[in-house]
Amino acid sequence: MMTPHMTDRIEGIYLDAVRRNGGELEFHQAVREVLGCLGPVLVKHPEFGKHKIIERILEPERQIIFRVPWQDDKGEIHINRGFRVEFNSALGPYKGGLRFHPSVTLSIIKFLGFEQIFKNALTGLPIGGAKGGADFDPKGRSEAEMMRFCQSFMTELYRYLGEYTDVPAGDIGVGTREINFMFGQYKRITNRYESGVVTGKSLNIGGAPVRTESTGYGLVYFLERMLQVKKEALEGKVCILSGAGNVAIHAIEKLQQLGAKVIACSDSGGYLYDENGIDLEALKYVKLAQRARLQAYLRHRPEASFVAGGNIWSIPCQIALPCATENELNGKDAEILVQNGCIAVAEGANMPTTPEGAQVFLEAGVSFGPGKAANAGGVATSALEMQQNASRDSWSFEHTETRLQEIMVGIHDLCYETAEEFGKKGNYVAGANIAGFIKVARAMVELGLV
Ligand code: GLU
Repeated sequence: MMTPHMTDRIEGIYLDAVRRNGGELEFHQAVREVLGCLGPVLVKHPEFGKHKIIERILEPERQIIFRVPWQDDKGEIHINRGFRVEFNSALGPYKGGLRFHPSVTLSIIKFLGFEQIFKNALTGLPIGGAKGGADFDPKGRSEAEMMRFCQSFMTELYRYLGEYTDVPAGDIGVGTREINFMFGQYKRITNRYESGVVTGKSLNIGGAPVRTESTGYGLVYFLERMLQVKKEALEGKVCILSGAGNVAIHAIEKLQQLGAKVIACSDSGGYLYDENGIDLEALKYVKLAQRARLQAYLRHRPEASFVAGGNIWSIPCQIALPCATENELNGKDAEILVQNGCIAVAEGANMPTTPEGAQVFLEAGVSFGPGKAANAGGVATSALEMQQNASRDSWSFEHTETRLQEIMVGIHDLCYETAEEFGKKGNYVAGANIAGFIKVARAMVELGLV
């Protein structure tokens, strides 16, 4: 277990949560990681215990599960399951992405929503935590099918949303195109041009510049700061990243801008290895313009290789950035990375490292930035998009990117200092969980028993 020490009271709360949320393994995992860090917080803040903040925070304020019927291009009918878990609104409207992927279950959405509470708190911006999605597979679907699915999804979800209530965005399988379709349907049903009701929109309809790039860029800013603490520079470092989606592509872009060398990335079919450094233009063309499989990159760079089914973490590197999905980097992978000389890991995905993997990194002195801190740049820029929409303004790329960078440095420093204050210097997992929890807990106490 990540942080083996749980006090009796916290352990009791954890076991109760496991019993009441039977079979939701990913949710249990996310809860265990956070609760394992909270013992010293209750000692310092007995008021949180008295107000039963941990017990309350584990129970979502509202959980919505709904049917999403739609027709494919051949006229065949399909039924999917939609979710929105509105977890906590102590700090602001519910905020968090929508994931469209066949693996989506209530447990996945709850773990993501739970993490989102603390991530959003760390940004310092006024946003609560939520997550949603559907067990729908976008792979191979035409644009018309995507539009019909998004419209059907929003036809049910719209009644729970609002710029002051709940503000979705993208996640795996949901990008600008899907957000635009959902915004269009919301606008049509409500007859309101309520720009701030979803984020990640395209620039023409109120999107924020940098939102597309923000998770990947923010991840690299966080990494850069972690390296600075270690008196290391990013320039010249050899990096590998899992994933080849929005987060990975823009992390590669920023890494290359800052002089790092990225030699590998992956998709669910295997990994791509390009020893001279990944050609970002070719990668963008294959993944963003063509929406093709990663292997198609070889048509542009025949000297690269694609290892079907291969384990990307076996490639020697100094920096590893898991940017694909949950539990994709386990204890064994972490050991291999450490043996190969890896000095820093920052999570672009949500909970990609297993508890055993995180433990290996901590014990080996590898700087380890957990997702709820390191990938918070996406949601932080979403909050900037909400600000921009509320002020009916439009900001420049430079202005927004500068704010993103300041926010990421702020998150890093808050996690670092909080870990130190609680006797866990260098442990960003503890720092993120404790700092995020304290912000939400204070607000919950102040709001009374609601
Ligand atoms: N899905 C992203 C995340 O995991 C972004 C959420 C948002 O922008 O609301 O934080």
